[in-house]
Amino acid sequence: MTTSDRSETDSATGASAICQRHADAPARWRCAFCDAFLCDACVSVRDIRERTVTVCKECGGRCERIGEEVAERVPEAVGEPVPTSLNLFTFPFQGDGLYILAAGTVVLGLVRTIALFSFAAWFLELVVTFYLATYWLKVIRFVAYDAEELPDWPSVEEDEIVANGLRFTVLVLACTLPSRIYMLQAGGWTGELDTSNPIGWLLTIAGVVYFPMGMLALAVLGDLTAAGPHIVLPAIARVGLAYLPVVGLVLGLIVVETILVALAGAVPLLGPFLSAAITLYLLVVAMTLLGDLYRRHRDAIGWDR
Ligand SMILES: [Zn+2]
Ligand SMILES: [Zn+2]
Repeated sequence: MTTSDRSETDSATGASAICQRHADAPARWRCAFCDAFLCDACVSVRDIRERTVTVCKECGGRCERIGEEVAERVPEAVGEPVPTSLNLFTFPFQGDGLYILAAGTVVLGLVRTIALFSFAAWFLELVVTFYLATYWLKVIRFVAYDAEELPDWPSVEEDEIVANGLRFTVLVLACTLPSRIYMLQAGGWTGELDTSNPIGWLLTIAGVVYFPMGMLALAVLGDLTAAGPHIVLPAIARVGLAYLPVVGLVLGLIVVETILVALAGAVPLLGPFLSAAITLYLLVVAMTLLGDLYRRHRDAIGWDR
């Protein structure tokens, strides 16, 4: 079978596609997130309340059945969000989580140590930001689909680090630049931020409220356009007041992380490792919170068709 044959069958029904990771296994699933054709060994099936969701083991995205007739669909659960037993602060340590975080702390600590003496620190920072952003999105997606422990670190071949990093960067800029630019121009472009005008603060609040649901949209739907207002704002409206504590907690965790990292910077030698542990733990908790928001309000948010 040539490559072109294969892509033709793939795009038609996928009926004779082969698993991307096991050349001898027929693909029975397609990951809606990373587009991979997958065999049964490459997916995990999770019972989420009244229905079963099949997710890609690699990226945590939702998989659709391909090929032979799809079994009749279990009716979708509607109504009340179901309370969850997930504990935000201990979840990162479930299963292999502790080892994943420890390995990440060593690597990020080393990178931050090197950055102290490097003239290309900005480049290191960019690489770290893209890589961590990819991981944050992966954590949200895994928690959103009821994973029981943290996903593994992103792999350079599989996880589209540049694409995820760019999406994350655009979202962050969209949430922070309007207020910053407004405050700069109110300050007469002198480089001073004029914080006396309420419009600047309203823009800041808008960005803070938008960001968590924007991250969730990027994590679950993948596409940058999915983080656009036409998808994010209705989702915020549908979750309603239950969204506000999430915004507060995410903001709180990011602020605490920034303060503690700055304090850890003063610690000789171990500072970068201390700050790495703080960053990884607190931001993983923040991302778990977003995935958990999706778990509890999946039906209201309505992104899973
Ligand atoms: Zn996938
Ligand atoms: Zn496979």
